Amino acid sequence: MDHSVLDIKKIRADFPILNRRVNGHPLVYLDNAATSQTPQQVIDTIVDYYSTYNANIHRGVHSLSQEATNRYEESRKIIQKHINAEKLHEIIFTSGTTHGINIIANGFSEILGAKDEIIVSAMEHHSNIVPWQMLCEKTGSTLRVLPMDVEGNLMLDDFEALLNTNTKLVLIDHISNALGTINPIKRIIDLAHTHGAAVLVDGAQSCPHIIPDMQDLDVDFYVISGHKMCGPTGIGVLYGKEKWLDQLPPYQGGGEMISEVTFEKTTYAELPHKFEAGTPNVCGAIAFGAAVDYMNSIGFDKISAYENQLLEYATNALDAIDGIRIYGRAAAKAAVISFNIEGIHPYDIGTILDKLGIAVRTGHHCAQPIMDFYNIPGTIRVSFAFYNTFEEIDRFIEGLKKAKSMLS
Ligand SMILES: *Cc1c(COP(=O)(O)O)cnc(C)c1O
Repeated sequence: MDHSVLDIKKIRADFPILNRRVNGHPLVYLDNAATSQTPQQVIDTIVDYYSTYNANIHRGVHSLSQEATNRYEESRKIIQKHINAEKLHEIIFTSGTTHGINIIANGFSEILGAKDEIIVSAMEHHSNIVPWQMLCEKTGSTLRVLPMDVEGNLMLDDFEALLNTNTKLVLIDHISNALGTINPIKRIIDLAHTHGAAVLVDGAQSCPHIIPDMQDLDVDFYVISGHKMCGPTGIGVLYGKEKWLDQLPPYQGGGEMISEVTFEKTTYAELPHKFEAGTPNVCGAIAFGAAVDYMNSIGFDKISAYENQLLEYATNALDAIDGIRIYGRAAAKAAVISFNIEGIHPYDIGTILDKLGIAVRTGHHCAQPIMDFYNIPGTIRVSFAFYNTFEEIDRFIEGLKKAKSMLS
């Protein structure tokens, strides 16, 4: 294989966790779609924050507070630039993708009514389904499902048929965490806009692999999580177009999000503070910026080229095993493979692989409707990052063959 795209040895040296052993074997970490690992550069940023300038932000007159505020706002700029948002205050720090979606769902639950319709794709993560079901219960709006085919492609002809003048919102995964499908979101956004509907894109799985361009996509809302792209847990970003964020009510009330408070009336702060009530995850936001810098220093072109090689290599190796069925065969696919082996429960495979130091995910991947679609309880999922190697895939395939012979 061509290993020249990335200096993989140098990259792996950045990730201390990759040196550890699990159950007596060197760790093979293939659960990157659940959370990615953290490079030393990001760990150092976190240690530096708590060792040298930990303070509450925005309100402090003292030096530490100013330093922390500057670094927090610097990080907002890093992310704005990275996803090419037009305005800095369109970047809202959240605790993650789930939080970002709930902010928007809460806002629209104040705006939508019984006649309105929203469309959710058949391959959404639960976090992009449940908040909208809660909204529909509250408002009486109707939830419609954009179906997919057996290969894991959304059916765009059906999408056009679903759109009408009552459609207010479209919810769509950029990349499916369960199938790996890269959805044609630009086309979906264009079609939705033609019918006057806004679009929220769940970018939790795209940002580890590609750079989404907010202005080029012309997307209304885009949500991401830090922990899936080499950052810490508990931090994420909600991008929203200014006109929407101005219009939507705040999600939480508290400190930081106000302009003036009296017992008669409170006026809200300007964006982005309107949606950042309370003390935010200051350290997490700064570390998220460091993670984006780190990934950019490697280069997303190289990251996706290399991950595509891993995907092809692993797909070919899996296809050569008897009784394997891969779910998700879209032409445009990220480095995520869901599969089953005939007659064997995914959980049993996962358990044996763990004994061999190989971390995979088994279950429904927070996407039960997809499992229902294929009429299965769950799958085994391997998901790759740029620090994985072809040798690790060999070890995984070897472990899988071993598990298969033990279980069948
Ligand atoms: C992980 C994930 C989420 C949820 O992200 P959190 O960080 O847990 O809030 C949502 N959608 C997709 C596609 C995901 O992969």
